[in-house]
Amino acid sequence: MRYIIGVDDHDSPVGGCTTHFSWLLFREFEKIQVKLEGYPRLTRLNPNIPWKTRGNASISFVVETERDMDELLDIVWNLSLDYIENISKGYNYKRSPGVAIMNFRHDPLLEHIYWKAVTDVVTREYAVKISEKLGIKTKGGRGIIGAIASMGFKTGITYELLTYRRRENWNSPRRVDFNTVMNYDLAFFPYVYANVDYVSKEQLIVSHGNDPVLYGLRGLKPSVLLEGLKLIRSEDVEGYQLFETNQGSDHHFKTSSLKPYSSFVGDVTIKKVNVMRGGDCMLFGYKFPVIVYKETGELNQAVRYLLPGDAIKVYGAAKPSAEYGLVIEAERIDITELKPDQMYINPRCPLCGGSSESLGRNKGFRCRKCRNKFKGNKIIQERPRSVTIGVYQTRKYRHLTKPIFLETIYDSKEDLK
Ligand code: ATP
Repeated sequence: MRYIIGVDDHDSPVGGCTTHFSWLLFREFEKIQVKLEGYPRLTRLNPNIPWKTRGNASISFVVETERDMDELLDIVWNLSLDYIENISKGYNYKRSPGVAIMNFRHDPLLEHIYWKAVTDVVTREYAVKISEKLGIKTKGGRGIIGAIASMGFKTGITYELLTYRRRENWNSPRRVDFNTVMNYDLAFFPYVYANVDYVSKEQLIVSHGNDPVLYGLRGLKPSVLLEGLKLIRSEDVEGYQLFETNQGSDHHFKTSSLKPYSSFVGDVTIKKVNVMRGGDCMLFGYKFPVIVYKETGELNQAVRYLLPGDAIKVYGAAKPSAEYGLVIEAERIDITELKPDQMYINPRCPLCGGSSESLGRNKGFRCRKCRNKFKGNKIIQERPRSVTIGVYQTRKYRHLTKPIFLETIYDSKEDLK
């Protein structure tokens, strides 16, 4: 029998990680002849969900086994409970782990819940309703939302190789040699992405939480990521797992709405740009303000140069706001049209070419140099704009965000157009 299984919410702020749980689970599967098929999937869901711990990750995988569905679900759930009790202590931190299983097949309804969970808020009731329709069996709490959503992800976009720390190191600072990470990244560009920030000279691969992850390498080919294991010098690695992922896919921008915590993509014609104390920028022109946080770096700098009449496409998230009802937090802005920045200047003196001053409305001009008085019209002069048409986004993008240069194999597919 072939099953697809989803798991989520196996972490907590003090320890554990759903990917780490899945890695341990696969080792248990080996002992009981449950065969993993292909790569497990690491799916990032709606990045705006307030109750996520970090990157809103969920995991799913296909297995082949002689065991029946209920038995396999019990095996996975018992291992989940063990992980939560001994590693993540998740129940002490209001985490709500969940596991889901179904006979493996592609189904449009399953795909639908993936897209909804990536762009919007899914209620537990809705996830239960879909489970019943599809014959999915579940155990646990809110985690079943992410578990089922991950099962609906069509694979084949990018990959991440996650390495796990030895338990005795969990409480000490992570040791990963930056130069070896940079050399690796330079050697395999453009098949790797989001591993190094070359502007701030920082490695982006190292995890910063209390989880057991040492580092995660992101790229487009499994073979290239496996090379990283050989080239990157670090503290001892306990083990690693390669995942197929939806990272770098822009899937969270596939649909747009103005519901709180959902993705927003929309056209805005600028009326006013306010630079707030502290550096955040507010753009007015849409029915809700667009906020561009200082932390977005290049993006925040670029929007300061926008002028009334400029046209932009905003990619971001709708967030509740006490002052405005709703604000759009921008993650990327595509400047589509820039109005000419025109100013009116006094004409040059026809006798000596000197600059002139106005003598009042319709009274002509006087040369500042030779004092010649003359009639004439103000001249329109265009100032160069300090931004250009094009896409601006922060270097510190989210897992789902497609880096500007990244060409994923999904780019040509119809469903992303
Ligand atoms: P980790 O990276 O270790 O998995 P995390 O940041 O991914 O941590 P989770 O522990 O996965 O956080 O918590 C996210 C919770 O939100 C899960 O219970 C998941 O089922 C739920 N969830 C995910 N996406 C949505 C959504 N679109 N609507 C409602 N709930 C969601």
